[in-house]
Amino acid sequence: MTTMLEPAQIDFSQICVGGIFRAGEGGTGRSIDPTDGALVADYGIAGLGDVEEAVAMGRTAVEDPAWRNLKPHERARVLARIGDALEAHAEVISVLQTRDTGKTLAETRALALSAAGTFRYVAATLETMDEELTPPRGPWLTMSVHEPLGVVAAITPWNSPIASDAQKVAPALAAGNAVILKPAEWTPLVSLFFARLAYAAGLPKGLLSVLPGPGRIIGDALVRHEQVKKVSFTGGTVTGIRIAQIAATKLMPVSLELGGKSPTIVFPDADIEEAVAGVLYGVFSSTGQSCIAGSRLFVHESIREEFVDRLVARASALRMGRGDAPATQMAPMIHHRHRDHVAAMVDAAVAAGARVLCGGEVPQGEFAEGAWYPPTILDNVVNTDTICREEVFGPVLAVMSWSDEEDLVSQCNDNAYGLACGIWTRDYKAAWRIARRIEAGTVWINTYKQFSSSTPFGGVKESGLGREKGRHWVQSYMNQKAIYWGMSEQPIGWA
Ligand code: NAD
Repeated sequence: MTTMLEPAQIDFSQICVGGIFRAGEGGTGRSIDPTDGALVADYGIAGLGDVEEAVAMGRTAVEDPAWRNLKPHERARVLARIGDALEAHAEVISVLQTRDTGKTLAETRALALSAAGTFRYVAATLETMDEELTPPRGPWLTMSVHEPLGVVAAITPWNSPIASDAQKVAPALAAGNAVILKPAEWTPLVSLFFARLAYAAGLPKGLLSVLPGPGRIIGDALVRHEQVKKVSFTGGTVTGIRIAQIAATKLMPVSLELGGKSPTIVFPDADIEEAVAGVLYGVFSSTGQSCIAGSRLFVHESIREEFVDRLVARASALRMGRGDAPATQMAPMIHHRHRDHVAAMVDAAVAAGARVLCGGEVPQGEFAEGAWYPPTILDNVVNTDTICREEVFGPVLAVMSWSDEEDLVSQCNDNAYGLACGIWTRDYKAAWRIARRIEAGTVWINTYKQFSSSTPFGGVKESGLGREKGRHWVQSYMNQKAIYWGMSEQPIGWA
């Protein structure tokens, strides 16, 4: 039976140190609703002493026989209960996250349910995970087993909080570790609520801490801490590279889910209606605040005019509105500062010669108060322009055309990122050819921005290192150990 919690009962000024909810040493911050700038809640900020305490509690908890000796199927039960709690609270998490991030309720509901699904998937993995008895090549029994790493840090961005928290915390706990979660500065509330849920669902004390605070202080301290044995990071490429550099000095594994500038390719034989809908969803859903946004469009020159006309008409008709209004498609962006950054990138592109086909200006009138930015389509750009090279992380699509397949592939790959790619065609051989040649962690053919827990996700090039999801997710938070078990009746013939 899940104990029901209400965000209204929660004091967000308390951080979570190993299951103890108390004030942080870093004081408090203010979480603001980007719809109108209203205060959602004051939240607690951790200090360096809290980091030390959380790590120490985590170490004690992973060594505690009550956790360490749990069989995988017994750990699975704890995880499944957390999944149930997330599902039972999906509605309240959704409302809280919509206020904290501005996102639509439809999206935040899906994120909460995806977090529940992540815990269930990982629990099921534990139920079925095998260890290996390897073929012996001598008088021994040889086996390969997996063991927890110890204390793991999870550092998450602001764009999909509850889902990205779960994608790190669930497999790390499943592996038998303790986890310290450092949420993004703009979105700590659901992570703090999640910690309450996890402990109410029966997670033993010490195994999860949630430490909101500045990345360059709290995040950095976690990465450098000698007792933190892995960092699982999702965020910007610059931060990810910095974390990898520090990790190298400790020889610590890292998993990095970073930025993207993903191409979407439209062939002349594509189902135009499906492709238009897919391109719009791929770049403008989540108000473009998505690492996998299909932000570079390559449409075949023979259909360019018709396709772009339809795209612009449909983009201009997308409904801007509050995240809690059911009809809204384009909710406010996370923060006014981020909206201003997106607007500045568009202004710079226009100054460099881009033509605005729709959007391109900060809206006034009823939307002036919030952090809205309209769906924006730009053409008269080339692949080497800044707007085509750099991640905008907002609702901005750069349109280019193609005619030669070789040139298309080289333009798609001529970018520092390699996260995703979309291909729209009825020609299955062409789809296969292109899918295999594009440098990306994920390729969607005649669909876009779809996910499954069972399919590994991650980037290549500057989009990241390592994979989340899939059957080996839990093992990615474990050390592999070889055991040789001597079976010979004779001494080793040396001494
Ligand atoms: P960010 O890199 O600024 O911050 C991400 C997290 O890292 C935050 O919690 C932040 O506090 C922390 N951090 C910042 N500096 C740090 C440091 N020196 N040491 C340790 N931690 C530090 O990113 P953001 O602006 O929050 O998020 C947007 C970025 O995330 C975009 O680039 C987006 O593409 C990327 N992202 C990637 C994926 C993916 O799966 N590939 C998913 C979502 C977002």
